[in-house]
Amino acid sequence: MRIGIDLDNTLACYDAVFAQAAVEAGLIPSAKGHGKQTVRAAVRALKDGETQWMALQGQVYGRLMGAARLIDGADEFLAWCRTTKKQVWIVSHKTRFGHMDPDRVDLRQAARSWLDKNGFFDPDGFAVPEQNVFFESTRQEKVRRIADLGIDLFIDDLWEVFNEPGFPATTRQVLLERLGHPVPIDTCTVCRSWREIHQLVRDAR
Ligand SMILES: [Mg+2]
Repeated sequence: MRIGIDLDNTLACYDAVFAQAAVEAGLIPSAKGHGKQTVRAAVRALKDGETQWMALQGQVYGRLMGAARLIDGADEFLAWCRTTKKQVWIVSHKTRFGHMDPDRVDLRQAARSWLDKNGFFDPDGFAVPEQNVFFESTRQEKVRRIADLGIDLFIDDLWEVFNEPGFPATTRQVLLERLGHPVPIDTCTVCRSWREIHQLVRDAR
C-alpha cells in the first residue's frame, strides 16, 4: 500500500508555536489557552488582520518551525508503516518562501530539517526515503503529485485538498479533523486522531 501524508497540521502541530509567536509579536496578550485556530481568529480581527496573519504564518513555518511537534500517535503509525513495509510519501503544499518574511527563510529547507530532527529519515526511526518528500507550490500541483505517485490512501487535515479538481478517484481520502468540526464533503473518512487513522489503515485491505 502506498500511503501519502500531508505535513503541516497533519504531522506537524504548530498550536504552541502560533500562540508563542503571536505573543512575541504583541498580537495577543497571553498564549494561555490558544491554539492555531484561536490565534488566527484573534489576529484576523485586528487592524490589517489578514496581513498580520500572513506575516505570522511566515514566521511560524520558517524561523520557528523547529518548535513544532509531531502530533500524538503519528509516531506509532509511522513506526508501524516501517515494520510492515508500507511505503510512505509526504506531499506538502509549501512555497519556498513565506509571505512578507524579511529574513527570507527557506520554508522547504526548514521543513526538511524538522523531518530530519524528528527521525523521519533515520533508518532506525521512521525510515522514510528523503526522495519521498515533495513540496508543491499550489494545491493543484499537490493533487497532481498525489496522482502521479499512485498513492492509494492520502491523509490530510484539509478537506479542500480532496475537493480539488484532479484529486485521483482511486486514492482513498482520510481527513484528520482533530477538533471535530463538521466536514462539508462526504467522500472522505473522518478521523479525530492518529490512533483512529492507524486503526483504519491497519484494518484496510
Ligand atoms: Mg495541512
